[in-house]
Formats: sequence, C-alpha cells, structure tokens
Amino acid sequence: RGGMERHTYDVVVIGAGGAGLRAAIAAQEAGARTAVVCKSLLGKAHTVMAEGGAAAALGNRWPEDSWKVHFRDTMRGGKMLNNWRMAQLHAQEAPERVLELEDWGALFDRTEDGLISQRDFGGHRYARLAHVGDRTGLELIRTLQQRTVQLGIDVFMECTVTDVLKEAGDREGRVAGALAYWRETGRFITFEAPSVILATGGIGKSYKVTSNSWEYTGDGHALALRAGASLINMEFVQFHPTGMVWPPSVKGLLVTESVRGDGGILRNSEGERFMFDYIPDYFRAETADTEEEADRWYDDKKNNRRPPELLPRDEVARAINSEIKAGRGSPHGGIFLDIASRRDADYIRKRLPSMYHQFKELADVDITAEPMEIGPTCHYVMGGVEVDPDTQQSAVTGLYAAGEVSGGMHGSNRLGGNSLSDLLVFGKRAGEAAAAYAVTSGQQGARPVIDEVDVKEAQASALAPFDVAADASGGSENPYTIQQDLQQSMNDLVGIIRTAPELERSLEALRQLKERATRMVVEGHRQYNPGWHLALDLRSMLLVSECIARAALARQESRGGHTRDDFPGPDPGWGAKNLVLTLDASGDGVDITEQALPVMPADLEQLFQDT
Ligand code: FAD
Repeated sequence: RGGMERHTYDVVVIGAGGAGLRAAIAAQEAGARTAVVCKSLLGKAHTVMAEGGAAAALGNRWPEDSWKVHFRDTMRGGKMLNNWRMAQLHAQEAPERVLELEDWGALFDRTEDGLISQRDFGGHRYARLAHVGDRTGLELIRTLQQRTVQLGIDVFMECTVTDVLKEAGDREGRVAGALAYWRETGRFITFEAPSVILATGGIGKSYKVTSNSWEYTGDGHALALRAGASLINMEFVQFHPTGMVWPPSVKGLLVTESVRGDGGILRNSEGERFMFDYIPDYFRAETADTEEEADRWYDDKKNNRRPPELLPRDEVARAINSEIKAGRGSPHGGIFLDIASRRDADYIRKRLPSMYHQFKELADVDITAEPMEIGPTCHYVMGGVEVDPDTQQSAVTGLYAAGEVSGGMHGSNRLGGNSLSDLLVFGKRAGEAAAAYAVTSGQQGARPVIDEVDVKEAQASALAPFDVAADASGGSENPYTIQQDLQQSMNDLVGIIRTAPELERSLEALRQLKERATRMVVEGHRQYNPGWHLALDLRSMLLVSECIARAALARQESRGGHTRDDFPGPDPGWGAKNLVLTLDASGDGVDITEQALPVMPADLEQLFQDT
C-alpha cells in the first residue's frame, strides 16, 4: 500500500490536445518543470480531428483583414456575450501563434505567392483559416508534439486524472496537485504541483449524436467545479449543422464546414436551396439574397455578399432542423449537402481529401458524383471554466484552464476555426502564468502540500463502484445503460430547440440517473477495466449535464447555441448577463447565479458602430 507512485512538478497539464501541449511548451520554456497527463495516447486528442483550419487575421488573401475585423466577427458570431478581453487577445495574438507553428516546422497549404493559404468559413468576413487540406489538426498536433518531445517534457499517457488536490483539504485552499490512475493497471498515481492546468476539452459524449470522441466526457469541467472553481455559459452547446446521418454506426461524425466554404450548398428533398429563407435580420446586410449573387461571391468576393450557407453555425443548424421537421428531409432524416454538381472531381479530391475518403469508405457515397446526407450533431461547448482573461487562472489559486474546457471566449456561439486559434493563444498564456506562479511559490518556500486525507478520500470514491458489487444490496445498475439513457435524454430534452417543460423533465431524468449511479456496479478487477473507466467518466458527465440543463432552463431567451421555443428571440436584459455555476453545499449538485457581463471599453465598442 505504502508504495503509491508519486511525482513532483512545478506545472501539471491535464490533457494533451492543442491547448495542453501549447501550455506545456510555454511552461517548460519559462523554466518550470512540467508534465502532461492524458487519458489516451499522445497524439490522439480531439485536436487531431480538426479539419478546417485555425482562424487568424494574417491578411494573406485579404490585406484588409486585421485583428479588429476578426474581433468584431467573433463577438458578433457569439451574439456579443463573449468576454471582450478574451476575444481581443485572441484576435490580436492568433497570427503570431500560427506563424510560430510554421517556425516549428508545420507545413501549411500555400497561396500562389507562397504565403500561408487561408480559407473561408462561416461568420468570418475574410478568408481567414490557415489550413492543411482538411487535416489541419493533424499537422498542428504533430508540430506541438515534436516540440514537446524536443523540450524533454514528461508525458504520462493513458493516465486519467480523477481529482484536483487542494492544500488544506477545503474549498478555499490553493491547488497542491492531482490524483490519477493508470488505465492499464488501475493503480493510482499522485502528482504534487502548485500549478495545474486543465486542458481536457469538451462534453460532447453527454449527447447521443455527436462529432466528439470517447474522451469528451467533461472531466475538466467537473474537476474544476469539484475543486471550487466556477463555470460560465454552460447553456451554450454548439450543434454543428453538418454531421453524417447514415449509416447509423457513424451518425454524428463531422462533415467539415470547408465543404460549404469551398462551394457546397444545402438543398431539401424538393431540391430547393433553402438557406435563403433563413437569413436573420442581424446578418442580412452582409448575406447574399439571390443564388446569382451567392454564386458570384466565390470568384468575386469584393463585389458580392456571402452565401447564406456560410452564416454562423447556430443559424444554419436551426434552419436544417426546421426543414427536417417540416417534412422536407432526405431519406435518412437529414438534408442534402451538394458539392458534386458545383465543383469538378479533381478540385473536390484535392481540397477535401478526408471527406472524400470518409464518405466513400463509411457510406459508399462518392461526393464528387452525388450529394451527401447530413444533419446537426453536437460538436462543441462554448461554456467552461470561468477564467481571468489574461492568465486563464480560475477562481482557485493555482488552477488554470485553456482550450475548449475554458469559458467566455466564444460567448453564445463559436465561429469555425476559432478553437484551434483559441487553444494556441490561451494555451500559451495559461502555461506562462502557471509557470510564473509555480516558480514564485517555490522561491518563497511556500509550495503547497497535499493533504493525505484528501488523497485517501479521492481513492475511496474512485473505487466505490467496486464496493457496490461487494454489497450487492438492493439491485444494481450498469454504467453502459446509464450512459445510454443520459445521452438519449440530453439529445431529446436539452438539444437544439428547448422548452421549459422539457428542460424540467431533463432535470428530473438527471436526478434519477444520479440516484441510479449510486447503485452502479463494476465487475472484475482494476486492471484495464473499461466498465470502471466509464463509471468514473459518468461522474463528470452527470454533473456537467446538470449544469447545461440548469443554465438552459434559467436563460429565458434565444441566443447563439441556445434556442428556446418558448422565448424565441434574444432579450437585451439577458444579453447583458452570464450564468455562473458552482458546486452546491451538498457537493452533489450545482448552484446558479447571474453575473453582469464585463463592459467593453469605448474604443472597441466603436468597432460595432462603424458597420
Ligand atoms: P482536446 O484536443 O480534446 O484534448 C483533450 C485532452 O484531454 C486529451 O488529451 C484527453 O486525453 C485529455 N483528457 C480529458 N480528460 C482527461 C482526464 N480526466 N485525465 C487526463 N486527461 C484527460 N476547431 C477549429 O478551430 N477548426 C477546425 O477545423 C475544427 N474541426 C473540428 C473537427 C472535429 C471532427 C471536431 C470534433 C472538432 C473540431 N474543432 C475544430 C474543434 C477543436 O478541434 C476542439 O475544440 C479542440 O481541438 C479542443 O482542443 P483541446 O486542446 O481543448 O482539447
């Protein structure tokens, strides 16, 4: 027993996606001894799946582009609920972060002049996404991983963090480290560190139809709450308009927005290009209102407005949802996405190689010859850990969050491409701040010390599902069934279109699922035991799902990724407020409070008056 594995670092980063690796690089370069801990193999994080590109106002295709236009687009895309300071830093620093990747060996696609190529995406006024075909995430991860290895950063793979540990064992204390277990052996491992950076990504696995992989169970969100930090904007979940709908085994798998950026259009079963019927007033001035103008835009962007297929994702997802509901869907319950009739086969294969193979291999559809069937899929969570915009520190001293797990940057809706740039910009900032704090706390001889009682408690709680098996009292529950029921319930009751009665039903369903989870039984041993891993993931999924449902019920308006059928429009009062979630006194549920949005300075405010 006495032999638990222990390690001491200055900074421990949880997660090896783009945010985690960029943070670790920054922390190590700043002189902090840094480790990265990740639940799966290095290189398999969600970031690797990113297809379209990283948004940055490099101005390579459009010299008129600048951080100010990117900032404005991001805020408008988020329906002005974004933390303005984060949106400003993001727009200002994204170009530097992309160019730095190139210095580190990333090979981006090129313009005719040899500059980094930039492609069009929804909500971005100018072509802005630096990309590598439709496999940008792979190149980003490859580059960051290579740098991580070069710098000698320690990596703990297939190692899941279950708890952030605090100094004094109470919710007021500073961070002192983290508890994790090796997925293969089931043995625990303790990290002692004054700084912990959460970079665990999103929550998509709480939904049945999702583009997210198995790792996206909201662990970082839950770890933050349980450590005493707060979450904001959790009602805002992005449903990407285009996921595969057929065959059932791949339902939800992403079809990149680049298909539309490169000329693809949406049609219903009557052959109608329906997006023209769904242009909201808010974006009318900058959107083409005839097919002729929309089609001219691809060749002459100066003198024409953008096609409505490239409206922000929330608008397009709602429109598709309405068409399907109105009975104008495709045979498998989606809508048609057609690039075959619009671009020649060579162009499609060159620009969209992954999409070509994805449809050929998984659905036996040749996208150069026939339309795809697509429908909305849960894709990204705008909500996350409330952080200081400059340092990414949460409400807990020593606890930082970067990438998808952090909140505020994207407001009520994220623009495509803004996540890869977000995780580079704020990964670096989090790494630097975490390193600076860790080094200072070391110099002052005041490094926080882990409370061993907390470690024992955290272990006991993680092993509880095995004890239930031993008691076998009063029937038992299987983690797989609970997960399926949770995913179905979130899909049906907290999906794209929401209503108060359904949200109330979802909260009741969550209460019952939580109760059933106390009777969850895990068979077998701690050695690689997927049932146990899922039982632990479910603790996060249930808590985070409750945050989403609670916030969705509280926000009585429709804005960005949150659409209430019973409150169809945006409400200026709600537009000035965030919803903040913290763990309640029982430690098993959440409290929700309203918070005034930080006020944007006049010079930035002016940017919205000019257009
Ligand atoms: P991730 O890359 O998911 O990394 C999370 C890490 O945390 C993983 O290493 C995981 O193992 C680890 N982890 C989680 N929980 C634990 C735990 N308890 N203990 C230890 N480790 C843990 N965005 C764009 O900007 N442009 C795009 O073109 C784009 N395309 C996308 C395509 C797809 C198919 C998907 C799904 C998303 C896309 N996105 C895109 C969104 C973007 O990829 C993600 O938001 C982003 O990669 C998240 O990065 P991250 O570093 O925050 O998290």
